[in-house]
Amino acid sequence: MKGSKLEEMTRTIEELIPDYLRGLPVYVPGKPIEEVERELKIHAVKLASNENPLGPSPKGIAAAQAVLGEANRYPDGGTHALRQTLAERRGVSTEEILIGLGSSEIIDLAARVVLRAGVQGLTSEGTYAPFSVAIRASGAELVLVPQRDFAFDLKAMAKAITPRTAAIYLANPNNPTGSTFGREKFSEFLAAVPDGVLIVLDEAYIHYAMSMGLRDSVEAYRKRKNLLILRTFSKVYGLAGLRIGYAIGRPELVAAMNKLRTPFNTSGVAQAAALAALDDKEHVSRCIETNAVERKRLTEGLAKLGYRPVASEANFVFITVGPEAQALSEELLQLGVIVRPLGWMGFPEAMRISVGTAEENEKCLAAMAQVVLRRAANGELARR
Ligand code: PLP
Repeated sequence: MKGSKLEEMTRTIEELIPDYLRGLPVYVPGKPIEEVERELKIHAVKLASNENPLGPSPKGIAAAQAVLGEANRYPDGGTHALRQTLAERRGVSTEEILIGLGSSEIIDLAARVVLRAGVQGLTSEGTYAPFSVAIRASGAELVLVPQRDFAFDLKAMAKAITPRTAAIYLANPNNPTGSTFGREKFSEFLAAVPDGVLIVLDEAYIHYAMSMGLRDSVEAYRKRKNLLILRTFSKVYGLAGLRIGYAIGRPELVAAMNKLRTPFNTSGVAQAAALAALDDKEHVSRCIETNAVERKRLTEGLAKLGYRPVASEANFVFITVGPEAQALSEELLQLGVIVRPLGWMGFPEAMRISVGTAEENEKCLAAMAQVVLRRAANGELARR
């Protein structure tokens, strides 16, 4: 190196990180229940991460246990069995199925494939934060369209498309508001989007929705192949901890994402569990039914306390509580109820409560009542 041009090089590693990455927000995960219980020495309920309160699919657990003894082997990097089954179920070819390390990985892969500096990625305000992160991390320009009544304003989004728009991210139902758009609004939107713009449609919570069925987006995809549908095993199948999800999209796009992902992204345990969970109709129906009953309990209970929850078609409920949202969440935490204040998602006055079991929801409502009563007595509550 001595005497060479390299000697004059003064650049630091920090300078190698581009500005658009330095400015990215940090994803704030929900507080782990064990940590809260240890800190406060209480039994807590976690209603902060939209998990399945009834646990994993029992068939999924059995299948996972059955393959644990093969953990010395690499998994099937091509995820053949799972892709084959999903392709049959969804009526597409195996080349149109991508298996990801949760749908989270696919949100990122899609951006890495179609976005770059000079193009735009479009999404809504008040939606799943990783969409914006994926767009910005690609070097593309992030364009955010305001919501209307806590829901995607698809008309405004269609109007925001420019010749530079390369991808649009949607979540249906939306996280964190729980709102949905139905078939009609979605097909109107699709008709307004040019063929050369990729629509990433994240359906993490679709099993809980009423306005849009499980098959609707796949039917739309058959007509308009600029759609990438994201599904996950983290919610209704109860496998969030195993990290597995999938996408349906055109083969060229799936092939490009496959080149970028790590060769063995999903474990053999996750693949086996997902395959078995898909067939666990009993568990899926029980989870959907319980969620519907419990979502109603939570919504009505919150309304009785004077809140106006946004009508939810997901496994969580969104409420505006006022400027005291963060403080209120902290007080609930002290009472052993972990909820999600939403300042980091662009709603500083709101919180999101995941639908739990009957017992968990009762505990949450009782804690809310206690906190609200005390605050009201102290004159600390903002008008709702
Ligand atoms: N998409 C949405 C809208 C979500 O709310 C979540 C998780 O909460 C995910 C994707 C991530 O799911 P996964 O566990 O499949 O990565």
